[in-house]
Amino acid sequence: MDWDEFAHWGKHISDWSAQYHKTLRDRPVRARTAVGGIGAQLQVTPPEAGEDMSAILEDFESIVMPGMTHWQHPRFFAYFPANAAPPSMLAEQLVNSVAAQCMLWQTSPAATEVEGVMVDWLRQALGLADGFTGVIQDSASSATLSAVLTMRERATGYTGNMDGLSGKGHLRIYCSDQVHSSIDRACWVSGIGQANLVKIPGEGARFGMDAGALDAAIVADIAAGHTPAGIIAITGGTGIGGSDDLGPILAVAKAHDLYTHLDAAWAGSAMICPEFRAEFWDDVDGFDSIVFNPHKWLGAQFDCSIQFLRDATPQLNTLKIEPEYLKTTGDIVTNYSEWTIPLGRRFRALKIWFLLRSYGLEGLRSRIRNHVAWAQELCEAIRELDEFEITTDPILSLFSFRCPGDDATQQRLVDALNDDGRIYLTQGAFQGRKIIRFQVGQFDTTRDDVMMAHAVIQEVWEQIQ
Ligand SMILES: *Cc1c(COP(=O)(O)O)cnc(C)c1O
Repeated sequence: MDWDEFAHWGKHISDWSAQYHKTLRDRPVRARTAVGGIGAQLQVTPPEAGEDMSAILEDFESIVMPGMTHWQHPRFFAYFPANAAPPSMLAEQLVNSVAAQCMLWQTSPAATEVEGVMVDWLRQALGLADGFTGVIQDSASSATLSAVLTMRERATGYTGNMDGLSGKGHLRIYCSDQVHSSIDRACWVSGIGQANLVKIPGEGARFGMDAGALDAAIVADIAAGHTPAGIIAITGGTGIGGSDDLGPILAVAKAHDLYTHLDAAWAGSAMICPEFRAEFWDDVDGFDSIVFNPHKWLGAQFDCSIQFLRDATPQLNTLKIEPEYLKTTGDIVTNYSEWTIPLGRRFRALKIWFLLRSYGLEGLRSRIRNHVAWAQELCEAIRELDEFEITTDPILSLFSFRCPGDDATQQRLVDALNDDGRIYLTQGAFQGRKIIRFQVGQFDTTRDDVMMAHAVIQEVWEQIQ
């Protein structure tokens, strides 16, 4: 393909994209594809001769698109959102065009320097104290793994990487039972092990862990000869939004000199609204590491996860490696690949720059405020449905409910709703029962989209009787 053809198809795809987004409401949110149905339409062997882009794009439309679930659909209420605001998509197109690999300062000074400033813009936007620095990672899972590895190294006097973990006893990590599975996985792959991840039951109105129970678990572990290494708190758990009361947990961490990490992958975005901070983020400045995903609620196209660090030194001491071929000469610079597990890095900061400049913080805050208000309004409407039960009240814009009947009936309603296609939501578990989750957060969603869910739920419920 020459560059004139590239320009032609680039414009075509740009027009296609705008049209796609303008007509999204007409499509079923979740793909209606049988397993294997898409793969079976592709050629079994790779082509020997090149083909025209027009033929490739035709197949994209007819084969691929029917198998897509529309995450940017305004009635996407499943999981958490993966918003891609239009200015952030444009930034990604520019990043794709330049296609730089931004592992070191010198491999693209602009990428490193824009990243530094964007991390600081977001620090200010979230009301975090001066002094936090940070890095953009691909996902919260990677940031949490980095933090858990740092806990491991700090607790072993930075000998784990060099000597392995043999003979070092049981390193222990503590969290509530509301955390995301990425915390379990970080314990698996760091060599700490699932058995050494101690989960304290979440309780109270926001399902946080009790600091007294946390302290007791640590004291018991020390008495048993184990080595506490760190505490992971959560703001906005994936299941029902479970959130820890941060201050008392930090006090326990301080008493035992433990490294602390806060997972706010979803709910962190809402902290750009100062009114939510008192309830969720009092004392947040005491954490050593905090992760939040602008690629969820904020509007930066996937992938984009920010890890803030109160002091980057422990993580650098854990992850930094400098073979001869990566050494740079001259002035001391920031090489962000030393802060993370992968070496290679995309230029992720540009989409944050485009996003924040296009909307301003006020533009983004008003969306999040609307989402929270509409989730509450819908929750009240569902509460009025005959024999429906609200199982957890809204935590920010996430709540859960049950229809009349057993667990199988809940799943039957979820499946019927998703087959219907006008809305998309997912199930979860709470206190041993299946629940139906509902979260509001898609960037283009309107009050009408959210309230339409009420009618759709009622209608589909009647159909499956
Ligand atoms: C989505 C989510 C994660 C995982 O995020 P990735 O960026 O996909 O790794 C972790 N924790 C919470 C609370 C989440 O909602």
